[in-house]
Amino acid sequence: MKLATFTAGGPPELGVVQTGADGPERIVSISRAAPQLAANMIELIAAWPMVQREVRAIAEVGEPALSFRDVRLQAPIPRPGKIFAIGLNYADHIAESGMGVPEHQVWFAKAATAANGPFDPIAIPPGGYVDYEAEMVAVVGAGGRNIGRDAAAGAVFGYCVGNDATERAWQHRTPQWTLGKSFDTHAPFGPWITTADEVGDPHALSIRGLVNGETRQASNTEHLVFDVWDQVAHLSQAMTLEPGDLIFTGTPGGIGAAMKPPKFLKDGDRVRIEIEGLGAIENACVQDLA
Ligand code: ZN
Repeated sequence: MKLATFTAGGPPELGVVQTGADGPERIVSISRAAPQLAANMIELIAAWPMVQREVRAIAEVGEPALSFRDVRLQAPIPRPGKIFAIGLNYADHIAESGMGVPEHQVWFAKAATAANGPFDPIAIPPGGYVDYEAEMVAVVGAGGRNIGRDAAAGAVFGYCVGNDATERAWQHRTPQWTLGKSFDTHAPFGPWITTADEVGDPHALSIRGLVNGETRQASNTEHLVFDVWDQVAHLSQAMTLEPGDLIFTGTPGGIGAAMKPPKFLKDGDRVRIEIEGLGAIENACVQDLA
Protein backbone atom coordinates (compact mmCIF):
# COMPACT_ATOMS: atom_id res chain seq x y z
CA MET A 1 0.00 0.00 0.00
CA LYS A 2 1.14 3.54 -0.76
CA LEU A 3 0.22 5.96 2.02
CA ALA A 4 0.45 9.71 1.47
CA THR A 5 -0.12 12.98 3.25
CA PHE A 6 -1.72 15.45 0.86
CA THR A 7 -3.74 18.62 0.58
CA ALA A 8 -6.60 19.32 -1.80
CA GLY A 9 -7.47 22.91 -1.00
CA GLY A 10 -8.01 22.27 2.70
CA PRO A 11 -6.10 20.91 5.69
CA PRO A 12 -3.71 17.96 5.27
CA GLU A 13 -5.34 14.57 4.71
CA LEU A 14 -4.14 10.98 4.74
CA GLY A 15 -4.69 8.89 1.65
CA VAL A 16 -3.97 5.72 -0.25
CA VAL A 17 -2.34 6.29 -3.64
CA GLN A 18 -3.64 4.06 -6.42
CA THR A 19 -1.58 3.66 -9.55
CA GLY A 20 -2.31 2.62 -13.12
CA ALA A 21 -0.06 1.76 -16.03
CA ASP A 22 1.15 5.36 -16.31
CA GLY A 23 1.77 5.98 -12.61
CA PRO A 24 -0.38 7.44 -9.84
CA GLU A 25 -3.99 8.00 -10.91
CA ARG A 26 -6.06 8.63 -7.82
CA ILE A 27 -5.84 9.00 -4.10
CA VAL A 28 -8.45 7.59 -1.74
CA SER A 29 -8.91 9.86 1.27
CA ILE A 30 -8.64 7.95 4.53
CA SER A 31 -9.33 11.21 6.39
CA ARG A 32 -12.70 11.70 4.64
CA ALA A 33 -13.73 8.03 4.78
CA ALA A 34 -12.85 7.59 8.47
CA PRO A 35 -11.94 10.90 10.14
CA GLN A 36 -11.62 9.27 13.56
CA LEU A 37 -8.90 6.81 12.51
CA ALA A 38 -5.87 9.07 12.84
CA ALA A 39 -5.15 12.80 12.82
CA ASN A 40 -1.83 12.41 11.03
CA MET A 41 0.58 9.83 9.63
CA ILE A 42 2.43 9.26 12.91
CA GLU A 43 -0.88 8.39 14.61
CA LEU A 44 -1.80 6.13 11.71
CA ILE A 45 1.51 4.27 11.91
CA ALA A 46 1.27 3.92 15.70
CA ALA A 47 -2.27 2.54 15.40
CA TRP A 48 -1.51 0.40 12.34
CA PRO A 49 -1.98 -3.06 13.94
CA MET A 50 -5.49 -1.97 14.98
CA VAL A 51 -6.50 0.02 11.92
CA GLN A 52 -4.84 -1.61 8.94
CA ARG A 53 -7.85 -3.80 8.12
CA GLU A 54 -10.09 -0.74 8.00
CA VAL A 55 -7.59 1.18 5.84
CA ARG A 56 -7.36 -1.75 3.43
CA ALA A 57 -11.16 -1.90 3.27
CA ILE A 58 -11.32 1.83 2.47
CA ALA A 59 -8.76 1.34 -0.29
CA GLU A 60 -10.77 -1.59 -1.63
CA VAL A 61 -13.97 0.45 -1.78
CA GLY A 62 -11.98 3.27 -3.37
CA GLU A 63 -14.14 6.15 -2.12
CA PRO A 64 -14.01 9.05 -1.55
CA ALA A 65 -11.23 9.54 -4.07
CA LEU A 66 -9.59 12.49 -5.76
CA SER A 67 -7.81 12.61 -9.07
CA PHE A 68 -4.05 12.61 -8.51
CA ARG A 69 -3.86 15.82 -10.56
CA ASP A 70 -5.95 17.65 -7.98
CA VAL A 71 -3.83 16.97 -4.91
CA ARG A 72 -0.55 18.30 -3.62
CA LEU A 73 1.64 15.77 -1.85
CA GLN A 74 3.29 16.85 1.38
CA ALA A 75 6.10 15.14 3.25
CA PRO A 76 4.45 11.84 4.26
CA ILE A 77 5.39 12.72 7.85
CA PRO A 78 5.57 16.52 7.99
CA ARG A 79 7.32 16.60 11.40
CA PRO A 80 9.03 13.30 12.23
CA GLY A 81 9.97 12.68 15.85
CA LYS A 82 13.56 12.19 14.78
CA ILE A 83 15.62 11.84 11.63
CA PHE A 84 18.83 9.82 11.77
CA ALA A 85 21.12 9.16 8.84
CA ILE A 86 24.07 6.84 8.32
CA GLY A 87 27.23 8.06 6.62
CA LEU A 88 29.73 6.12 4.51
CA ASN A 89 27.46 3.20 3.73
CA TYR A 90 28.13 2.36 0.04
CA ALA A 91 31.66 1.29 -0.98
CA ASP A 92 31.86 3.66 -3.97
CA HIS A 93 30.79 6.63 -1.82
CA ILE A 94 33.34 5.70 0.85
CA ALA A 95 36.03 5.65 -1.86
CA GLU A 96 35.06 9.03 -3.31
CA SER A 97 35.06 10.50 0.21
CA GLY A 98 38.67 9.35 0.67
CA MET A 99 37.74 7.36 3.77
CA GLY A 100 38.09 3.73 4.80
CA VAL A 101 35.20 1.35 5.45
CA PRO A 102 34.15 2.29 8.98
CA GLU A 103 34.42 -0.31 11.72
CA HIS A 104 31.38 1.15 13.46
CA GLN A 105 28.26 2.59 11.85
CA VAL A 106 28.66 6.37 11.45
CA TRP A 107 25.46 8.13 12.52
CA PHE A 108 24.38 11.75 12.55
CA ALA A 109 21.10 13.52 13.18
CA LYS A 110 19.17 15.71 10.78
CA ALA A 111 16.89 18.18 12.54
CA ALA A 112 13.19 17.29 12.36
CA THR A 113 12.63 20.81 10.99
CA ALA A 114 14.66 19.85 7.89
CA ALA A 115 11.79 17.60 6.72
CA ASN A 116 10.50 18.73 3.34
CA GLY A 117 7.91 17.66 0.80
CA PRO A 118 8.70 15.48 -2.20
CA PHE A 119 8.18 18.31 -4.71
CA ASP A 120 8.93 21.40 -2.60
CA PRO A 121 11.96 23.65 -3.05
CA ILE A 122 15.37 23.03 -1.51
CA ALA A 123 16.76 26.31 -0.12
CA ILE A 124 20.33 27.23 -1.05
CA PRO A 125 21.79 29.53 1.62
CA PRO A 126 23.90 32.50 0.52
CA GLY A 127 27.27 31.24 -0.71
CA GLY A 128 26.02 27.73 -0.06
CA TYR A 129 27.78 24.53 -1.01
CA VAL A 130 24.66 22.41 -1.09
CA ASP A 131 24.88 18.84 -2.35
CA TYR A 132 22.41 16.02 -2.97
CA GLU A 133 22.50 12.46 -1.59
CA ALA A 134 20.06 9.92 -3.06
CA GLU A 135 18.91 7.64 -0.24
CA MET A 136 16.33 5.03 0.62
CA VAL A 137 14.52 6.04 3.82
CA ALA A 138 13.17 3.47 6.26
CA VAL A 139 10.13 4.59 8.26
CA VAL A 140 9.94 3.13 11.76
CA GLY A 141 6.73 1.30 12.61
CA ALA A 142 6.33 -0.32 16.01
CA GLY A 143 9.91 0.57 16.86
CA GLY A 144 11.23 -0.15 20.30
CA ARG A 145 14.53 -0.57 22.11
CA ASN A 146 17.27 -3.18 21.66
CA ILE A 147 15.66 -4.60 18.53
CA GLY A 148 17.74 -7.56 17.41
CA ARG A 149 18.74 -7.96 13.78
CA ASP A 150 16.28 -10.85 13.43
CA ALA A 151 13.39 -8.68 14.67
CA ALA A 152 14.38 -5.55 12.72
CA ALA A 153 12.16 -6.19 9.71
CA GLY A 154 9.14 -6.22 12.00
CA ALA A 155 10.07 -2.79 13.34
CA VAL A 156 10.03 -1.06 9.93
CA PHE A 157 6.68 0.25 8.66
CA GLY A 158 7.70 1.12 5.13
CA TYR A 159 10.08 2.91 2.81
CA CYS A 160 10.39 6.25 0.99
CA VAL A 161 12.67 7.98 -1.45
CA GLY A 162 14.84 10.62 0.21
CA ASN A 163 17.48 13.24 -0.43
CA ASP A 164 19.96 13.77 2.40
CA ALA A 165 20.74 17.28 1.16
CA THR A 166 23.89 18.61 2.77
CA GLU A 167 25.65 21.95 3.17
CA ARG A 168 29.20 20.64 2.61
CA ALA A 169 31.07 23.68 3.94
CA TRP A 170 29.14 23.51 7.21
CA GLN A 171 29.47 19.71 7.29
CA HIS A 172 33.27 19.76 7.12
CA ARG A 173 33.94 22.96 9.08
CA THR A 174 33.78 20.99 12.34
CA PRO A 175 34.13 17.30 13.28
CA GLN A 176 30.37 17.12 13.93
CA TRP A 177 28.19 16.96 10.81
CA THR A 178 24.80 17.71 12.35
CA LEU A 179 24.50 21.41 11.44
CA GLY A 180 25.62 20.85 7.85
CA LYS A 181 22.93 18.19 7.55
CA SER A 182 20.14 20.13 9.24
CA PHE A 183 19.34 23.20 7.14
CA ASP A 184 15.63 23.81 6.70
CA THR A 185 14.23 21.99 3.63
CA HIS A 186 17.28 19.69 3.41
CA ALA A 187 15.43 16.44 4.12
CA PRO A 188 12.93 16.07 1.28
CA PHE A 189 11.30 12.65 1.18
CA GLY A 190 8.29 10.80 -0.18
CA PRO A 191 6.48 10.85 -2.50
CA TRP A 192 4.54 8.48 -0.22
CA ILE A 193 5.34 5.62 2.17
CA THR A 194 5.29 2.22 0.48
CA THR A 195 4.44 -0.29 3.19
CA ALA A 196 7.04 -2.95 3.92
CA ASP A 197 4.78 -5.80 2.78
CA GLU A 198 4.52 -4.21 -0.68
CA VAL A 199 8.27 -3.53 -0.91
CA GLY A 200 9.35 -7.07 -0.12
CA ASP A 201 13.16 -7.15 0.00
CA PRO A 202 14.42 -3.57 0.56
CA HIS A 203 17.94 -4.68 -0.31
CA ALA A 204 17.36 -5.20 -4.02
CA LEU A 205 16.14 -1.82 -5.31
CA SER A 206 17.81 0.29 -7.97
CA ILE A 207 18.44 3.88 -6.86
CA ARG A 208 19.30 6.91 -8.98
CA GLY A 209 20.03 10.57 -8.39
CA LEU A 210 19.74 13.08 -11.24
CA VAL A 211 20.46 16.80 -11.55
CA ASN A 212 18.71 18.60 -14.42
CA GLY A 213 18.12 15.21 -16.05
CA GLU A 214 21.78 14.12 -15.86
CA THR A 215 22.33 10.88 -13.94
CA ARG A 216 24.84 11.51 -11.15
CA GLN A 217 24.20 8.50 -8.92
CA ALA A 218 23.15 5.00 -10.00
CA SER A 219 23.35 2.01 -7.69
CA ASN A 220 21.26 -0.59 -5.93
CA THR A 221 20.37 -0.99 -2.25
CA GLU A 222 22.00 -4.44 -2.40
CA HIS A 223 25.28 -2.53 -2.03
CA LEU A 224 24.56 -1.12 1.43
CA VAL A 225 27.56 -1.82 3.68
CA PHE A 226 25.36 -2.02 6.78
CA ASP A 227 21.89 -3.13 5.69
CA VAL A 228 18.62 -1.83 7.12
CA TRP A 229 18.42 -4.61 9.70
CA ASP A 230 21.95 -3.84 10.96
CA GLN A 231 21.01 -0.18 11.14
CA VAL A 232 17.82 -0.73 13.15
CA ALA A 233 19.61 -3.12 15.50
CA HIS A 234 22.49 -0.70 16.06
CA LEU A 235 20.47 2.50 16.49
CA SER A 236 18.02 0.88 18.88
CA GLN A 237 20.83 -0.11 21.23
CA ALA A 238 21.20 3.60 21.94
CA MET A 239 17.69 4.96 21.66
CA THR A 240 14.04 4.05 21.52
CA LEU A 241 12.81 4.07 17.94
CA GLU A 242 9.30 5.45 17.71
CA PRO A 243 6.56 5.28 15.07
CA GLY A 244 7.32 7.58 12.16
CA ASP A 245 10.99 8.11 12.94
CA LEU A 246 13.04 8.31 9.73
CA ILE A 247 16.25 6.43 8.99
CA PHE A 248 18.20 7.67 5.96
CA THR A 249 20.13 4.57 4.91
CA GLY A 250 23.14 6.06 3.11
CA THR A 251 24.05 7.34 -0.34
CA PRO A 252 25.93 5.70 -3.22
CA GLY A 253 28.83 7.32 -5.08
CA GLY A 254 28.34 10.28 -7.39
CA ILE A 255 27.86 13.24 -5.05
CA GLY A 256 28.57 16.71 -6.45
CA ALA A 257 31.40 17.40 -3.99
CA ALA A 258 33.40 14.47 -5.41
CA MET A 259 33.14 15.61 -9.05
CA LYS A 260 36.19 17.18 -10.66
CA PRO A 261 35.69 20.07 -10.41
CA PRO A 262 33.02 19.84 -7.67
CA LYS A 263 29.51 20.80 -8.73
CA PHE A 264 27.23 22.14 -6.06
CA LEU A 265 23.53 22.83 -6.42
CA LYS A 266 22.51 26.28 -7.54
CA ASP A 267 19.37 28.32 -8.00
CA GLY A 268 17.20 26.75 -10.70
CA ASP A 269 18.68 23.24 -10.54
CA ARG A 270 16.24 20.34 -10.28
CA VAL A 271 17.23 17.29 -8.24
CA ARG A 272 15.38 14.05 -8.85
CA ILE A 273 15.78 10.87 -6.82
CA GLU A 274 14.22 7.61 -8.00
CA ILE A 275 14.03 4.23 -6.29
CA GLU A 276 12.61 1.10 -7.89
CA GLY A 277 9.15 0.41 -6.51
CA LEU A 278 9.12 3.46 -4.21
CA GLY A 279 8.56 6.26 -6.75
CA ALA A 280 10.47 9.49 -7.26
CA ILE A 281 10.85 12.89 -5.65
CA GLU A 282 11.92 16.03 -7.48
CA ASN A 283 12.90 19.29 -5.84
CA ALA A 284 13.82 22.61 -7.40
CA CYS A 285 16.69 24.53 -5.82
CA VAL A 286 16.02 28.16 -4.89
CA GLN A 287 18.32 30.77 -3.47
CA ASP A 288 17.43 31.38 0.18
CA LEU A 289 17.26 35.13 0.59
CA ALA A 290 16.49 35.01 4.31
ZN1 ZN B 1 23.58 10.72 3.53
